Amino acid sequence: MSNPWIQELWRTLTIAAISLLIGWLFDAVALCLLLGLGVYAGWHMRQVYRLERWLRHGKRFHPPEAQGIWEEIFQYIYRLQQRNRKRKRKLGSMLNRFQQATAALPDATVVLSDGEHIEWWNAAAADLLGLIYPRDVGQHVGNLIRNPVFVAYLNSGDYEIPIQIHAPAKLHIALSVRLISYGTGQRLMVARDITRIQQLERMRRDFVANVSHELRTPLTVVSGYLETLLEEDDEPAVRWRKTLTSMHEQSRRMQGIVEDLLMLSRLETQAQPEQLTPIDIPVLLAQVKDDAQRLSGDQAHHITLEVDRSIWLLGNESELRSLFSNLAFNAVRYTPAGGQIQMRWYADVQGAHFAIKDSGIGIAAQHLPRLTERFYRVDVGRSRGTGGTGLGLAIVKHVLLRHDGQLQVESQLGQGSTFRCDFAPNRLSRQAQPAVG
Ligand code: ADP
Repeated sequence: MSNPWIQELWRTLTIAAISLLIGWLFDAVALCLLLGLGVYAGWHMRQVYRLERWLRHGKRFHPPEAQGIWEEIFQYIYRLQQRNRKRKRKLGSMLNRFQQATAALPDATVVLSDGEHIEWWNAAAADLLGLIYPRDVGQHVGNLIRNPVFVAYLNSGDYEIPIQIHAPAKLHIALSVRLISYGTGQRLMVARDITRIQQLERMRRDFVANVSHELRTPLTVVSGYLETLLEEDDEPAVRWRKTLTSMHEQSRRMQGIVEDLLMLSRLETQAQPEQLTPIDIPVLLAQVKDDAQRLSGDQAHHITLEVDRSIWLLGNESELRSLFSNLAFNAVRYTPAGGQIQMRWYADVQGAHFAIKDSGIGIAAQHLPRLTERFYRVDVGRSRGTGGTGLGLAIVKHVLLRHDGQLQVESQLGQGSTFRCDFAPNRLSRQAQPAVG
């Protein structure tokens, strides 16, 4: 009989039958039955005791010998344990492999528990962040990286964009730090050494700024002489007028590019002023409108300006002038003669806004995401033909970055475009003036 429960039943019945038989022979049925079943219960108790001892002390070894249902129970528990042990070993080796892989990463990696306490880190983290084992296990990460930018980032809960700080243990190293949330309240901190990238970026900026600076003087001289020659009306000057005019145009174009490049490198490198000045945007826009009308000249664009006079902006006047001029001049340059250009300056709960709408040539959707890239033009010929440098919208983007602003562009080919600058409410400065439309 293979079923242990049937075996056990037979065993019980046999013991009861023998007890009954002996009891019948000696005329003490109840006593003998009690004794027999008592011995049987004692045997079971002993098996329970052996099981308990084995589980407590010897579960690594093979289970002790047992009979009947108990053999089954011992074997079953033993098999379960074997299986668990195997699974544990597998998980352990997986964890080991994972830790070895993370430890070998060149980026500093720190595992933070719920509550931002440090649980684990790799060798790069020990090196860059100065973490020491076991001293720093369980420490709050804000106590070890005290950089205010990092603390603000940690508390913000918004980890979309990485921050840049100096390595706490090696101040000459620049780090890009990012927090990644996972599980329930767990976070992974990854810090990457970006010193080299920053150096290259600085070299690029310096190179562009130096080249532009060096080109500025020779270009001014060449352009100046060409201008003088164009004013001459003797025979050689008249003969060469067409060539000289073209040379003068090209040198003016180069001057424009150099000026825009210098402006861009100033925007990239100059620190933001501590004290922001309120700028009278309505007056500035009125001047920009006049300049745009002058640029339009014979093309007679119909330019309108609608402003809320009470809204000023905290920022830098020359940068803002450049921003509005670039947008207004683009509207003139990319709108056929006689077209409509509407400029609006207004505010709402989301902040202050400058919108410029033209009835011009418009821009196909695929170009919109790339418009603010340096030298990106939809139509190179047209851009050059109208005196464009290809840098106007890159300047717009940088000025907006420095004024907590964003650029929104809506356009359809042949239907005109709307460029809108949205400034954050903290940049708004309301002046006690009557609002005039
Ligand atoms: P550019 O000097 O060539 O005008 P920008 O950076 O100012 O350089 O603009 C980039 C490109 O965006 C332009 O070449 C042009 O194709 C397109 N663009 C800008 N403003 C407008 C506009 N108002 N209407 C149509 N296209 C425009």
